[in-house]
Amino acid sequence: MANPHIEIPVRAPAATSVDDTVLPFEVAALDLRGRVVRLGPLVDEILARHNYPAPVSKLLGEAIALTVLLGSALKIEGRFILQTQTDGPVRMLIIDFRSPGKIRACARFDAARVAAAIEAGKADAGSLLGRGHLAMTIDQGADTSRYQGLVALDGGSLEDAAHEYFRSSEQIPTRVRLAVAEELSAGARHSWRAGGMLLQFLPKSPDRARVADLHPGDAPEGTAPHALPEDDAWVEGRSLIETVEDLELIDPAMSSERLVYRLFHERGVRVFRGIDVVAECSCSRPTVEAMLKSFPQDDRDHMVEDGMISVTCEFCSSTYRFAPEDVQGEPSPGQSDDKA
Ligand SMILES: [Zn+2]
Repeated sequence: MANPHIEIPVRAPAATSVDDTVLPFEVAALDLRGRVVRLGPLVDEILARHNYPAPVSKLLGEAIALTVLLGSALKIEGRFILQTQTDGPVRMLIIDFRSPGKIRACARFDAARVAAAIEAGKADAGSLLGRGHLAMTIDQGADTSRYQGLVALDGGSLEDAAHEYFRSSEQIPTRVRLAVAEELSAGARHSWRAGGMLLQFLPKSPDRARVADLHPGDAPEGTAPHALPEDDAWVEGRSLIETVEDLELIDPAMSSERLVYRLFHERGVRVFRGIDVVAECSCSRPTVEAMLKSFPQDDRDHMVEDGMISVTCEFCSSTYRFAPEDVQGEPSPGQSDDKA
């Protein structure tokens, strides 16, 4: 062995991918931490049920992989919500992660504009999203304040937005890779797979993680933009994650452990207990009923069709049907009862 100091793994890495798991890892010699996510049945269940046009499914799959990478890092009970709001053909993506690992997701898009984008060969993530913002919200319940981080989407990919968010808001050097593909198998229908990897430089001395300030904007002409040389350890980590091929993130024959081993075995890499994730919605008949009861009577009246009120969950397509008299709200004090 060339280097006697490298850490020897205590067990051999799993040969094949374990789907719907997040594998945290650490490369102590380079002050790097990261996670790898592999999604099989989870992403296939969500995307197959929605049956969106393929480029919209692919984009939502990337957003799901990104949400799982970020949400699985939360040490708290609660929800992590990633949401885009943009002016492109896909005007909104919503991905909802509930600890410890329940995911639901949906997209809102203009079908005609998506079809035109596909026709024009401009159905990449940046073109579908357009311009607007990406919001990340941490919600720990009614009694605690919400945290929200925002970053501009400017015609780039979700990876670009994640890099910009960590650079400008968190000041943590970060690289993200995301991949989504349809797996073709003879006879059977296509199934979706997704994967992703996040790598962060977290040195003990915060000085080493410093990033260049924002561009000086209207500073006098000739002012040099603030530049800082990147730490050698981060340059090495960043260069390594940039070699990750899409196929390595989605190939069932490549385990997460083999992938991190391929990248970091020379420096020594430690993996931690994986986190399981699953596609599961949080809607229920009682929550839909409570929502309907909170609406003004006039709004409920407009929802009645064939004598019933139907509500379909945008995330999981479950439909809940109520007789109008079962979802009458409590009349608020002072409100006159028109039916009297
Ligand atoms: Zn639902």
